[in-house]
Amino acid sequence: MTVYFTTPAILLRRVDFGDNDLILTFFSPTRGKISLIAKSARKNGKRFCGALDLFSAFEIVCSTGAGRLPVLQESTIKHPFCQIRSDFKKTVYTSYFVEIINNWMEPDVAQPQVYDLLYQVLDRLDRSDLPDELLSIVFQMRLMIISGFSPDFSACGLCHIEMDCLNGRRIGINFAKGGMICSACNSAVSSLFYLSMGTIKQLQWMGCGNWNKIARVRFSAQSIRESLEFLEAFVPYHLGKETKSLSILRQLRNEKVKNEVNSCRKSI
Ligand SMILES: [Zn+2]
Repeated sequence: MTVYFTTPAILLRRVDFGDNDLILTFFSPTRGKISLIAKSARKNGKRFCGALDLFSAFEIVCSTGAGRLPVLQESTIKHPFCQIRSDFKKTVYTSYFVEIINNWMEPDVAQPQVYDLLYQVLDRLDRSDLPDELLSIVFQMRLMIISGFSPDFSACGLCHIEMDCLNGRRIGINFAKGGMICSACNSAVSSLFYLSMGTIKQLQWMGCGNWNKIARVRFSAQSIRESLEFLEAFVPYHLGKETKSLSILRQLRNEKVKNEVNSCRKSI
């Protein structure tokens, strides 16, 4: 028996299939990750209303039956996020977010909070509402909180002394223990990632989910760098793999630093 369903969805991945078709992976609030086939989508560009561009948000209508891949029947574009696709850095950040979602989210499991997070972050990235780096910090922190992998910044993971009782400006974080380790305990664990107390407080703000509060946080350049280095190690650790887009993002940052050094040299 064929069943039809309609859902908002963001296009995560598209792969050519046969001569005419596409296999598409969407992320939706009600069904999580969905893979489906878009028949004749390559042969006839007008088959679906609006281009099936990556990272765009759609309203899709699909048909599904036992033991076969759902079929895309109709798609209506809701938000093309054009500014993201016309800016290389925004495209790479989006690829990173989408790669995490594609690798992490279970198929056919409702994820309304994660969908809302991805949509909100892409919308703000598209409007340049907040700096790209800050949006990446918000996306990663919120995703960790929603998924139950939030780093524990409240107390030492071994002796449970509360963070507010700690002295010192830099706090060790152990990924396997999932959070901070106080200086009295840090000889008991092998690897620690150090964050300043100020960065930890700001990361907690960024994970709050309240965009008005987030817009008021003033990050120093050093704190942004420290937060990104931490999250881009912590998230892949829990994901169990490095994403391809993260290495492109790092190359892009290295190029930027090299260019800045070269332009400084020229101006001396
Ligand atoms: Zn301790």
